[in-house]
Amino acid sequence: MGNIVLLDDLTINKIAAGEVIERPANVVKELVENSIDAGATNIEIETKKGGKSFIRISDNGKGISKDDLELSVERHATSKIRRVEDLENTYTMGFRGEALASIAAISKLTIISKTEDNLNGNKLVCEGGNILEFDECGASKGTSIIVENLFYNTPVRYRFLKQDATEFKYIKDMVQKIAMANLNVSIKLINEGNVVFKSIGNGKLEDIIFLLYGKEVSQNLVNIDYKEENIKITGVVGNTMIARDSRKDQIIFLNRRNIKNQILYNSADEAFKASIGIGKYGFLILNIEMPANYYDVNVHPTKIEVRFNDEEKIHGILYRALKNAMLNKEFLGSNELDNNKDEYIKSEYNYATSSFANSKKDTQIVEKDQTINREEKRKINYKYLGISFKTFITAEIDNDIYLIDQHAAHERILYEKIKNNYKKTSNNNTQMLLVPDIIDLTNKEFEFVKHHLDLFKDTGFDIELFGEKSVKVMGEPDISYKYSSKNIFLDILDEMINNERSTIKDVEDRFIATVACKAAVKANMDLTKEEVDWLINDLLILKNPYTCPHGRPTTIKINKEELLKKFN
Ligand code: ADP
Ligand code: MG
Repeated sequence: MGNIVLLDDLTINKIAAGEVIERPANVVKELVENSIDAGATNIEIETKKGGKSFIRISDNGKGISKDDLELSVERHATSKIRRVEDLENTYTMGFRGEALASIAAISKLTIISKTEDNLNGNKLVCEGGNILEFDECGASKGTSIIVENLFYNTPVRYRFLKQDATEFKYIKDMVQKIAMANLNVSIKLINEGNVVFKSIGNGKLEDIIFLLYGKEVSQNLVNIDYKEENIKITGVVGNTMIARDSRKDQIIFLNRRNIKNQILYNSADEAFKASIGIGKYGFLILNIEMPANYYDVNVHPTKIEVRFNDEEKIHGILYRALKNAMLNKEFLGSNELDNNKDEYIKSEYNYATSSFANSKKDTQIVEKDQTINREEKRKINYKYLGISFKTFITAEIDNDIYLIDQHAAHERILYEKIKNNYKKTSNNNTQMLLVPDIIDLTNKEFEFVKHHLDLFKDTGFDIELFGEKSVKVMGEPDISYKYSSKNIFLDILDEMINNERSTIKDVEDRFIATVACKAAVKANMDLTKEEVDWLINDLLILKNPYTCPHGRPTTIKINKEELLKKFN
């Protein structure tokens, strides 16, 4: 006799449940999304013991008719699609018809629902996939679903759950995200009898952001409102003041579904690069709308991953959406916009996406970019007030007082300069030394220089290896300031060796940032009036003057109005 048998339905559903329902938060997600698919404008969620013992979701959606109620807990039973082609045209959250069947298999599930047409409501109770009760009952239009004792018959899963408070936190995060993506639905979350969160459902993203993140975040955001072809991108993007150390606050919705996607992250990273710096993640909440046939969400049952048909196109469009928002006056401060904004974004995009490593082709691109002026010369009118704490240049411009960190500002200026000159073949980016420096190196340093000779040359160093453990420096980037070339050279080496980078592009970016950092004036260093004049003018004509390449602010602005308020 053979060993192969067909699995019974309950076993199949329990296995399927493992893919969709890993923890109580997944139950909440599936049920709330069902409510949204049913057109609900009001959804109430109640949980106890982190959702392990009790979850109730009540909505005012269109309800489930008596005839459909029994079917709804069957596997692959859905009202949302009829055939696979429908997927290309489906904007509902669900379509696999798995959630209710899965939940019914691993809990005690009660559904009470009433449609407009049915006179009474109907109630269905299941446990471990068996129907225990199916009756008429009183109810108002909509659906209530109660899930009790989740995972009671899958003890291994149950044991993997975290403490109630942690499980509830997952639920809360999930609910808040769904609320952000469905601004016209009012969603209320009650835990152990207390209201923990309630969205108004008035359609305004800024209201819910204020509610969730507070005043500081709200004040450092600009709106994104962008359309290209039939892709629409709305949302908010944060400036450097609220940049984060992780991607936690980069929240992306694609046709209202929360997704994670590396192509989109890469695009955002490129767009943020100059304004928030290395190692930081910009605050970002995005709503992307596009035709459903541009991508596939059916990669995994939880639908958190998507695959785009044309990744390059999506990458470019998101980049342009973000850059457009970032060139906004409120994002940059007082910087004026150019009329050739689109050209500027295009040149930045080419620069960002061309790999430095493919020298020939890219040199051309980079060189062509120089024709588009990154820094337009324009004299800034300011009143010089002095230098505070030997660190902050203090100046008055229009209605603002500027406190400019002299090191960070200089670093920003040099960074732009080196980036602009990168790989320019002409010699005038190099300043020749009167007497070449011969610098002795350790083995490791020597190896690094040997491997990265081009990197040094492309940024303006004129060097050659000298024997087996020394390097001869004949020229340095034409930016240096008050330091000996030898110190700068060794500092750069030190930094590069101690912070190894994985990709060539990272190494190059880091190198440029490091050269800028090491050559820049430090705090506590006295500057003359001329030097200050030069710094302010060079800084404020940059497109991104307000952060250093590491993402720290260069400048803090205090507005006259704000100041007057403080004296009131
Ligand atoms: P899917 O959402 O993939 O269709 P589910 O198992 O989540 O599958 O739900 C099965 C069906 O039950 C849905 O297609 C829908 O017709 C119905 N349903 C579930 N929840 C609700 C609800 N809150 N309001 C109205 N209908 C619902
Ligand atoms: Mg569903």
